[in-house]
Amino acid sequence: MTRVRRYWLFTAAISILTAPIAQAQNADIDAAVERFQGQIIDLRHQIHQNPELGNREFQTAALVADHLRSLGFDEVITDVAHTGVIGILHGGLPGDTVAVRADMDALPVTEDTPYSFKSTVRTQYLGQEVGVMHACGHDIHTAVQLGVASILASMRDELPGTVKFIFQPAEEGPPPGEEGGADLMVREGVMSNPRPSAIFGLHALAEMEVGKLGYTAGPALAAVDHFSIEIIGTQAHGASPHLSVDPVVMAAQAITALQTIRSRNLSPLQPSVITVGIVRGGTRFNIIPDQVHLEGTVRTYDPDVRDQVERRMEEILAGITSAGGGTYHLDYDRGTPATINDISLTERMAPTLARVVGVQNVEVLEPTMGGEDFAYFANEVPGFFFRLGMVAPGTVSGGHHTPTFQADDQSIPVGMKAMANLIFDYLITRQSMLP
Ligand SMILES: [Zn+2]
Ligand SMILES: [Zn+2]
Repeated sequence: MTRVRRYWLFTAAISILTAPIAQAQNADIDAAVERFQGQIIDLRHQIHQNPELGNREFQTAALVADHLRSLGFDEVITDVAHTGVIGILHGGLPGDTVAVRADMDALPVTEDTPYSFKSTVRTQYLGQEVGVMHACGHDIHTAVQLGVASILASMRDELPGTVKFIFQPAEEGPPPGEEGGADLMVREGVMSNPRPSAIFGLHALAEMEVGKLGYTAGPALAAVDHFSIEIIGTQAHGASPHLSVDPVVMAAQAITALQTIRSRNLSPLQPSVITVGIVRGGTRFNIIPDQVHLEGTVRTYDPDVRDQVERRMEEILAGITSAGGGTYHLDYDRGTPATINDISLTERMAPTLARVVGVQNVEVLEPTMGGEDFAYFANEVPGFFFRLGMVAPGTVSGGHHTPTFQADDQSIPVGMKAMANLIFDYLITRQSMLP
């Protein structure tokens, strides 16, 4: 992700009206962060050292539920969408309901960081033994949200409304053959009883320093689709290609031709990516195999573009395999939709980020072709998803999903402050809108 211009934020009229309240609330939240950050950083170390893959977040979910119960939450619901946890905190003052979401799952990556609390956990994943690591920062997200729970519980008398804390499993996608993640949470009714009027979420960003926050108004993260293709031919001796229908040659043509969807079928101004990430076929150098397997991902923003990509993939595969004398099978799975930050909610909440870390530390970011299943929540109610700087000054982090990904502890108090202030500001402004 590249960063664009620094953004000069306008203070919305509403935040001028609430400025004195915001100042007192800022100070109270700062004091609470001071008080809780040591404990929360310890919890982060515990979560980091004991990472669990999607739909297997058993210990993490238990830790979360224990923490929420210890804070006297009004409701703590477990086993939501497998291992998800929902916590409900009613404030002492009447008001609206807002939701906040953190993801809890780790990845099949073997950690290679200098952390004293690094993970040495290994597990079985798709028949392979793998290391398990919080290589996307979801340990930070979970810890930040536990910290926000501590802060808001300690200030609940002043809290005008209800906060629904959503701790989500399997953001990276459930294991094949299972359901899970935000999609399943929404289908299980997480966004009702009580229904929030908005939802907030954050994500650590491996290219951003600790102390900084970033956001994108409107389209922020792309829709993520997965495709799997079998190109089917006829096997023969490698020296007798005329007796084969060669799926390797057809696959090679297909891989190249699929890129013409991006370059020749879609508007150059429409963001899209088609990536073939797996090519698998053959057993021996002198045998033409009967089948080649291709697998990859499509990233788009516009639903029409998404439809067009899928249609063109079928047409190209049909054309190439029919010309080559073979056949094909395409499985096109539509995954997470695009994450769109609600424009008016973003405009209302961005000044809060600037107040918390200073205008000079808030960056407006370009949309990314990465995806986030936060989209399922943000399709239900207006959502605001922002980025948390995580790289300690003078250090370098590996990219997301790599063994050297390093999110610094000091991003946690920044995230706690930002999220607690967003929730308070949101509920206060909603209160002033109530009849
Ligand atoms: Zn990730
Ligand atoms: Zn992530």
